[in-house]
Amino acid sequence: MTIALKDVTIHPVVEQQGAFCDFLEFFPKLSKEQFEENRSWLEPTFVDPATQRLVLCIQGFLIKTAQHTILIDSCVGNHKPRPARPFWNMMNSDRFEQGLKAVGVGFDDIDYVMCTHLHGDHVGWNTRLENGRWVPTFPKARYVMADRELAFWTQKQKEHPADAPWMTDSVLPIVAANRAQVVKSDFALGDLVQCIPTPGHTIDHFSVLVGRSGHDALITGDMIHSPIQGRYPDLSMRLDYDSAQSAETRRKIFDRYCDTSTLFCVTHFPSPSTGRVQRWGDGYKIA
Ligand SMILES: [Zn+2]
Repeated sequence: MTIALKDVTIHPVVEQQGAFCDFLEFFPKLSKEQFEENRSWLEPTFVDPATQRLVLCIQGFLIKTAQHTILIDSCVGNHKPRPARPFWNMMNSDRFEQGLKAVGVGFDDIDYVMCTHLHGDHVGWNTRLENGRWVPTFPKARYVMADRELAFWTQKQKEHPADAPWMTDSVLPIVAANRAQVVKSDFALGDLVQCIPTPGHTIDHFSVLVGRSGHDALITGDMIHSPIQGRYPDLSMRLDYDSAQSAETRRKIFDRYCDTSTLFCVTHFPSPSTGRVQRWGDGYKIA
């Protein structure tokens, strides 16, 4: 699937899609009654009817402009020890690489990797294992990371390495190899790629607006995980760094793009993962 905008194309690169987490555990503030009220439209696309688990896509978005080939978020990666996440532990899959190949892109072709935030399912392919060492997967790429995000997780890894194993194998080796480009979360790359601070899920999370005004798309990253957070923008997922801030971010971003032509590419929504924002009661629908 290719999303063609003026002067930019977007290609989703899917690594995995599945029903990973119990819906009510993922959204601990959602009541059983609210869940029941919404099941009819959430199932089967967003909630697996058999297990009542949230269906998530793990994907990155490849952006091609005349100047640059940019990967936004790099999924889980191969051979990464993730003992706390059995479905991501020591993966060995060629699906991500094949996804790039399908749009004519090899590891050498990527100029920039942009990390919306530094969680394990967004940085994994930053590195790959070569002769027992973690090396940058994309040898020519600069890896764009927000400064406060990198500082936060670097400190976390130092204090509790087991809480952030992806820092050890997928982020710090990039810094050590001098491939990190540490930026403010409103960084712009030319006039077609603009980071937009969307904090809350993590301390310095950003989304990425691509394209020209009137012909643009917002790669959300993890400011939203399920469309139920459109209907109830205050609903946070269990791992949000600051749930009040993540709610404020959702309201602000949905309000800004409501009834506009901006296409949302929602990283964790099941494929095709896209829609435009419309009002829906006190909340919003991405459809
Ligand atoms: Zn994520």
